Parts: sequence; C-alpha cells; structure tokens
Amino acid sequence: MSDLKDLQKIAKKFIDDRDWRKFQTLKDLSMNASVESAELMEIFLWKDKKFEEEITNHGNRKIEDKIKNEVSDILFSCLAIADQMNFDLEEAYKNKMDELNKRYDVNKVKGKIIKINSPDNSQK
Ligand SMILES: [Mg+2]
Repeated sequence: MSDLKDLQKIAKKFIDDRDWRKFQTLKDLSMNASVESAELMEIFLWKDKKFEEEITNHGNRKIEDKIKNEVSDILFSCLAIADQMNFDLEEAYKNKMDELNKRYDVNKVKGKIIKINSPDNSQK
C-alpha cells in the first residue's frame, strides 16, 4: 500500500523521466485538473439515477474503469501541482480535513446538507 507521498514521488518521476517539467506550468496543471474533472462529469451527463446505482453496485465494469481512469487523471494533476510547488499534498490534505471537521461539526450537520462558507471565503 502506498501513501500520498509515494504517489507524489511516482508523479515526479513520471514528469522528470520525460523532461516535461518545462511544460507543466501551474496554469496548465490547474486547467488540466479541471478538464479531467469535466471528463469525469461527462460520464454521468444526462444519465439517470439508475445509471449511478448500476455503477455503485459494480454492474458496469467498462464505465467503472472509465471512472477510475478519470479520477486517477485528476489525482495526477493534483500530485503534479504539489510537486511543482514543492509542498506535501498529504499534509495539505490533512490540514484541509481538519478545517472541514471544524467547519462542519458532526453534531450540527449530521444527516443535513448545508453549506458553511470558510472564513477565508466570507471575507472576499
Ligand atoms: Mg482523462
């Protein structure tokens, strides 16, 4: 089993082996993350609830593989951004989850869908 640091090293090696760092600007990597997210969303576009249930119940291996592929593409973009900016994505993710745990106190939101703006966003 790998942790996120191992995955970050794999992404770094992939980029360095191909000498692609010079092309991987933060602008392009962030746009790539968005494009890959759109490719994931396209799988579900105009599909009904039955489609989602079929996927959730592992009833369509071909689509399941496409989803895995797009989610991995998104992860690669995130890992590449972390590599380019030289930060530890695992630590950043844990910090984000700590923030979300505080913002969405389980005793206040359990079973409810509510949006609570982050203190950073409320000042903009
Ligand atoms: Mg893709």
